[in-house]
Amino acid sequence: MSLADLPPLREALERHDLMARKSFGQHFLLDLNVTRKIARLAQVGEGDTVIEVGPGPGGLTRALLETGARVVAIEKDSRFLPLLAEVAEVAEGRLELVEGDALKVDDAKAAGGPAHVVSNLPYNVGTQLLINWLTGPFRPLSMTLMFQKEVADRIVAQAGDDAYGRLAVISQVLCEARVVMDLPAKAFTPPPKVASAVARLVPKADPPPAEVIGALERVTAAAFGQRRKMLRSSLKALGGATLCERAGVNPDARAEVIDLAGFLSLARASLV
Ligand code: SAM
Repeated sequence: MSLADLPPLREALERHDLMARKSFGQHFLLDLNVTRKIARLAQVGEGDTVIEVGPGPGGLTRALLETGARVVAIEKDSRFLPLLAEVAEVAEGRLELVEGDALKVDDAKAAGGPAHVVSNLPYNVGTQLLINWLTGPFRPLSMTLMFQKEVADRIVAQAGDDAYGRLAVISQVLCEARVVMDLPAKAFTPPPKVASAVARLVPKADPPPAEVIGALERVTAAAFGQRRKMLRSSLKALGGATLCERAGVNPDARAEVIDLAGFLSLARASLV
């Protein structure tokens, strides 16, 4: 038997008597045309290792395996493991299943080397997982991630946009970030309340050093924590107007209009 011989996803769910659970953020993609499109957008293939968080019924997992990639799939809901084991059986050793909470799993150890991350993320932990991959010890080669549309918009927002904030600054300082696909709620089973979008993030070759990123996290937390205030006031604890002047940034401006270069300059100035 091969991947192509696996039963349709709905049939596999029925056979294993599996229903979606809200508490696990379960909204499934049961159309393989959609999951194949995500796998294509992820640009992975033979020789690549992919970490997939939350394989659930395995629609995206199958599409990733079809590209020839090796997949390490981390699933918290143990009910799905027997169904996923059937996929592993026909994957010629290219699917490894890890039962556990993706927030606690050591990705580097699980992947055993450099890896891409591709996932239809559980919404309740999606942003936290992204922050971990951006700033934690394990840096994926690329990330192709389904979020609520509102979160995807926050990742790619530009200075002056309503959605511009910490997530945009940290994501775009470290990665090239784009929204590559929009999906309506009805594409999922069961449909969530909101639309979704796939964001693709590719780490920049020459990111700022860790201490600058640490400073950037502090500066953006303070500046966007009081986004209606002028920087001279929101950044008071970090040096206020003096810090802004050292960084060449207008102290009377508000966080929402400061671009990436401005925030990087503030972060660097805060370290001197
Ligand atoms: N990949 C499947 C698909 O596209 O149909 C399922 C996506 S569903 C939005 C999210 C999946 O993540 C579910 O299978 C859920 O059980 C799993 N999940 C939820 N929280 C998790 C966590 N903390 N760690 C690992 N998996 C988790």
